[in-house]
Amino acid sequence: MPICECGFNFAKANLKGQRFESYAVIRDDDYPKVMRKESAILSEHGRDKVLALISDAAQWVGSLMRCPKCGAWVFVKPHGRTRDAIVILKAVPPVKRARPTKRRASANASRHATSTRHR
Ligand SMILES: [Zn+2]
Repeated sequence: MPICECGFNFAKANLKGQRFESYAVIRDDDYPKVMRKESAILSEHGRDKVLALISDAAQWVGSLMRCPKCGAWVFVKPHGRTRDAIVILKAVPPVKRARPTKRRASANASRHATSTRHR
């Protein structure tokens, strides 16, 4: 598990039992393959075989975790053993709309009409 840019260590938090928001992430192209692997795990009964199948399937699944300290999203791509497999997604403020909504446009139009009437 990664460490966020703010220093939050997801692995240590996990060991301490600290909860944080997280999701499993599967590439669209790999989804059918991962589902077949999951199905094989569920139908297998030998413990060692199940663990081997889980280990094999896990490499195809990444994760998306929300840092409880700074709010950034930390994305770990499937097969994420290299440094570039971890992407930090910081929250950005919402972008203002370029065009006014219909309601505002009509309000502006009536305001304009009112101000023209008084001239
Ligand atoms: Zn953080």
